[in-house]
Amino acid sequence: PHEREPTPVRTACPYCGVGCGVLATPDGAGGASIAGDPAHPSNFGRLCSKGAALGETLSLDGRLLHPEIEGRRASWDEALDAAARGFRETLDRHGPEAIALYLSGQLLTEDYYAANKLFKGFLGSANVDTNSRLCMSSSVAGHKRAFGADTVPGVYRDLETADLLVLVGSNAAWCHPVLHQRMLAARAARGTRIVVLDPRRTATADEADLHLQLRGGSDVALFSGLLVALADGGFVDQAYVDAHTSGFQAALARAREIAPDLAAVAAACGLAEAEIAAFFDLFAGAERVVTLYSQGVNQSAQGTDKVNAIINVHLATGRIGREGMGPFSLTGQPNAMGGREVGGLANQLAAHMGFDAASIDRVRRFWDAPRMARAEGRMAVDMFEAIDRGEIRALWVMGTNPAASLPRADAVRKALAKLDHFVVSENVASNDTLTAGAKIRLPASAWGEKDGTVTNSERRISRQRPFLPLPGEARPDWWIIARVAERLGFGAAFAWRTAGEAFREHAALSAFENGGARDFDIGALAELDDDAYDALEPTQWPAKRRDAGGETRFFAEGGFFTGDRRARFVAVEPPASRPPDAGRTLRLNTGRIRDQWHTMTRTGRSPRLASHLPEPFLEISPRDGLRAGLTDGGFARVSSAHGEAVLRVRFDPTARDGAVFAPIHWTEETSSGARVAALVHAVTDPVSGQPDAKATAVAAAPV
Ligand code: SF4
Repeated sequence: PHEREPTPVRTACPYCGVGCGVLATPDGAGGASIAGDPAHPSNFGRLCSKGAALGETLSLDGRLLHPEIEGRRASWDEALDAAARGFRETLDRHGPEAIALYLSGQLLTEDYYAANKLFKGFLGSANVDTNSRLCMSSSVAGHKRAFGADTVPGVYRDLETADLLVLVGSNAAWCHPVLHQRMLAARAARGTRIVVLDPRRTATADEADLHLQLRGGSDVALFSGLLVALADGGFVDQAYVDAHTSGFQAALARAREIAPDLAAVAAACGLAEAEIAAFFDLFAGAERVVTLYSQGVNQSAQGTDKVNAIINVHLATGRIGREGMGPFSLTGQPNAMGGREVGGLANQLAAHMGFDAASIDRVRRFWDAPRMARAEGRMAVDMFEAIDRGEIRALWVMGTNPAASLPRADAVRKALAKLDHFVVSENVASNDTLTAGAKIRLPASAWGEKDGTVTNSERRISRQRPFLPLPGEARPDWWIIARVAERLGFGAAFAWRTAGEAFREHAALSAFENGGARDFDIGALAELDDDAYDALEPTQWPAKRRDAGGETRFFAEGGFFTGDRRARFVAVEPPASRPPDAGRTLRLNTGRIRDQWHTMTRTGRSPRLASHLPEPFLEISPRDGLRAGLTDGGFARVSSAHGEAVLRVRFDPTARDGAVFAPIHWTEETSSGARVAALVHAVTDPVSGQPDAKATAVAAAPV
């Protein structure tokens, strides 16, 4: 008798926002072999180094597999009772402002939906924020200002039909590799030009036709100058501007003040006029242009203005929503978009609705919610500062590691110790947050066990399907939330038996009293039965009840989601000058490396991935390094006003003087004393609340 070949399970990668389809074939012993899914329309079978190594990361070593209270193993009943009791007591004593939930862009949409519903509809607290605040909230804010909704207008295929791709603050070759491979393949096939705007000479810049190594923070000046050049050169699509937008003249007038001519732009960017002119000529001369942007734009104290400066030039030229054209936000995490869709940010309600009276009432009626949050809650940085001040007393962290990833990480860690009630649900072995005093630890299911959906950067909803059994007593996050809700007296509203039931409710809410007024509408998916949900093919939204299906773009013919259906130009502002930080003359830029993901709880298990860049480091120009007394390959003690980290020195002859770079991945758990987030200042964008992780004043000295 011959054994049947195991069947590959179609699922999605748990890392970046490209959202690649993965085929996982379980080996029957807790492992699986991994391949790209040739039928997934976002990656067509490709995987990057991280995705290809997923099979090496499935070990259960040291994993939290049973609930714990105060470090002791507990039953689920005991742990859930204690978790619910703590929130009930804090609510009764201090009100809904004193409780908070901190989520993750790696949760599935169903988990996110359940968490958001419990807190915003049933406990009356909008203190629901997520590590996506650190990732793309400036894009959300920029989209809402310009489009009236958080809409990504384009699709990945536009990268293959564009004549010019402009990557701003994006090292896609390392951070969105499969998408970058699609761009390079398009260039080989049809001669697409690629421009990279980045203060660092990255792997992406190496592949570009033109790299503008501009001064950090000068993007607003550059795109203001481009708007002026387009206007003066006769490249404005006046018909589109007149028919579908408002505010053009005011935005242009402000741009003229900021960037009157090439010389002003060149001075602001620290570049030669010829380099600026070369970029402007390419942009003006190519009809099909996609501008992709990522953390160099978002993680900034002017992040929202940077996003709007980019959107302005696309609106002015009418290059939006048509094939091969548009501004394009690349999200960092696998389900940052799904989190946005359920309202998993403190300034969103649900299904892309905000905290206006009509939306609050609509969502209240849909949920039959007894205690709706009435106003926006605290965003990530503010949330942890409120914990430090004792204003938030009870916190639930799900699937993320704020003690290692938030700015001023040492202060965050200290603040966590002040909580009366601290619950963590986690699917990793150990991390800085689990060891920062969590009283109740709940074992959540991990990738390979989880069952639900994620949405990638091109609005495509894909299934994450389980191919391994739930280990120990681990449970899905949505299930854990529903059981806590039950104990708080809301069982009927959280009575889902499967992830699919939670998803259908979320889909129905998106269509509830919508009538085309809101961009996010997946009403067609509310009608899936269990089998159809299980078999759901990757689906781009909108997926409305009557006209579901197919590839979709927004705004080619206007139809924005503002009151008058017109897009708004935004008069953007350059950064205010900051007072010099005596003795700390270097500007620290933080980011990812090619083969690690966030705080390495999964990628850190793969020896293959660890071999690329095996230890924490500081990239610095040789001139700055020598001036600081450092040696290439030695160690530096890097210090800011907030903390210190000891990092290996790498002299980088391509680095701009005054600018240093360090990766974000190492933590106290993995490399004591090298946690870069401890250095990062807690400066945030005034509109989006996103922390500026690219410009902390630091000093470096030999160890
Ligand atoms: Fe995963 Fe992103 Fe790599 Fe695709 S590109 S395999 S989604 S990490």
